[in-house]
Amino acid sequence: MREIDITRGIVENHVESLYRSLESDVVIVGAGPSGLVAAGYLAEKGFNITILEKRLAPGGGIWGGGMGYKYVIIQKEAKDVLEDFGIPSRPYQDSYYCVDSISFASGLIFGATKRGVNIFNITECEDLLVRNGRVAGVVVNSSLTGIAHLPVDPLTLEARAVVDATGHEHDVVRTFSEKNDVTLNTPTGKPVGERSMFAETAEKAVVTNTKEVYPGLFVCGMSTAAVYGGFRMGPIFGGMLLSGKKLSGLLEECCSG
Ligand SMILES: Cc1cc2nc3c(=O)[nH]c(=O)nc-3n(C[C@H](O)[C@H](O)[C@H](O)COP(=O)(O)OP(=O)(O)OC[C@H]3O[C@@H](n4cnc5c(N)ncnc54)[C@H](O)[C@@H]3O)c2cc1C
Repeated sequence: MREIDITRGIVENHVESLYRSLESDVVIVGAGPSGLVAAGYLAEKGFNITILEKRLAPGGGIWGGGMGYKYVIIQKEAKDVLEDFGIPSRPYQDSYYCVDSISFASGLIFGATKRGVNIFNITECEDLLVRNGRVAGVVVNSSLTGIAHLPVDPLTLEARAVVDATGHEHDVVRTFSEKNDVTLNTPTGKPVGERSMFAETAEKAVVTNTKEVYPGLFVCGMSTAAVYGGFRMGPIFGGMLLSGKKLSGLLEECCSG
């Protein structure tokens, strides 16, 4: 065994992966439930999908369940998404299913990667590429660069569409709006800001507000609440799954044109 062969295997495969993502159909920023679901469905249809996740582990806010209690609740309307990803669940009361957050997170991650989604962890989207009034890609850096405050320049990836799936942070839309004199497709033309907890209204709004917020830039999941002024909902996740599923349909249309 030569250590250099192990190194070569890692370097060659990583570079090959990166090459594949240089010109993606869609770059999704954030590997939470909504982004993973959208990515999985799109990759299944043959699209070249890249996810950027700034943390070490993809899965976003799933892992901790509710206040560290490891179960999450899903409405029955989203059960088919669980089935599509092979995630076990058990019925709870009449309208819900109860899912172990560990199998939920790992099932979505594996479901996406086995369909061909290219996930880069420890990788942060710090800006967007904009060409001719349309979002055309992302500016990325290692998360470690930011943590260590190193003066290291980023790289760029092109995409036909970019998604803000960054959850509460709505990092992509917020940065884009702060840096540029742009009018977003929101009531104020800017991110409106998230409101307090109101689960039922919030769950519906997450799906309704899954849309294109600027040419080439889409929002899904919890970031829709921050961008469109929706309520938060706590550890119920059906809306996130349905948001991801809706987004996959919108992007299929966008990328097939
Ligand atoms: C740490 C955490 C704690 C949470 N706590 C609560 C809570 O107490 N109550 C509540 O109602 N909801 C909470 N949520 C949100 C809740 O879990 C959501 O209902 C659900 O997880 C949202 O799913 P999502 O698909 O929108 O993305 P999320 O699960 O929010 O995941 C978003 C992902 O985007 C990544 N990300 C963010 N910015 C960037 C960037 N610039 N580049 C690359 N990756 C980026 C994040 O690391 C994260 O993994 C929390 C989420 C997180 C991540």
